[in-house]
Amino acid sequence: MKVAFSGLSPLVVEEVVDDGELVRLRARTPDATASGPSCGAETSRVHGYHLRTVADLPLDERRVVVVVRVRRLVCPTRGCRQTFREQLPGVLDRYQRRTSRLARQVGVVVRELAGRAGARVLSALGVVVSRHTALRALLRLPLPARRVPRVLGVDFALRRRRYATVLIDAETRQRVDILPGRLAGSFEAWLRAHPGVEIVCRDGSGAYAEAVRRVLPDAVQVGDRWHVWRVRREALVRREALRIEGGARPPRWAVAAVRWELSAVRPGRRRGGREAALRACPGS
Ligand SMILES: [Zn+2]
Repeated sequence: MKVAFSGLSPLVVEEVVDDGELVRLRARTPDATASGPSCGAETSRVHGYHLRTVADLPLDERRVVVVVRVRRLVCPTRGCRQTFREQLPGVLDRYQRRTSRLARQVGVVVRELAGRAGARVLSALGVVVSRHTALRALLRLPLPARRVPRVLGVDFALRRRRYATVLIDAETRQRVDILPGRLAGSFEAWLRAHPGVEIVCRDGSGAYAEAVRRVLPDAVQVGDRWHVWRVRREALVRREALRIEGGARPPRWAVAAVRWELSAVRPGRRRGGREAALRACPGS
């Protein structure tokens, strides 16, 4: 028993009941002192008890439920007298219905297999969670802290009629963030919250340019390869159209004809669109 529940060692396990498909543990917190949250005075004076029921790691392919008696302590400081529940960080986290060690294992599974697949694998391991719970566990996981890129690629993306602003680390080619909309506001807020960008690699849009100028006046702004190519191509189209049909403005049919002929050498399309163009950015 000591070995199986050594991870719960800060608790005093008082009873283990074999309940068929379920193993039931009765435990309590030790009689140690704890410091109150407001004035920090140490106390072990009990105001009352309450029970917390949490799931623990399965044992012998059976679910394990731990019923823990937790104390509500009262601060001894005159004039404070605040009561508070004792906490057991690392064993029982606040508001959680699983022990910390079970929550860690659930986190590992849902990170690889979110939703239904995660719930199925966990139930095979003796941990019963719904797919909604699996998703909630996934959303609770802390995101890895990404470093702010030195060279930032920015462009908009359109999906299902919704615009987004895609930020890419132009050196590592990793996606950094996706912001709602393609207006300057959200991009500007992101730049303010993430100082350290030195070079911004962008399309020809005035909105992004303005945001960079406002937040990072010293940053270097460069056009990314895809957009530079497009500008050059349009200039070429115009010149060719004028050569075919003289005059001050080339007629639309001539522009369309040249554009159609050049469509075979459109770099952005052939290389897989905007993301590829942004990826190619540092070399441009
Ligand atoms: Zn106090």
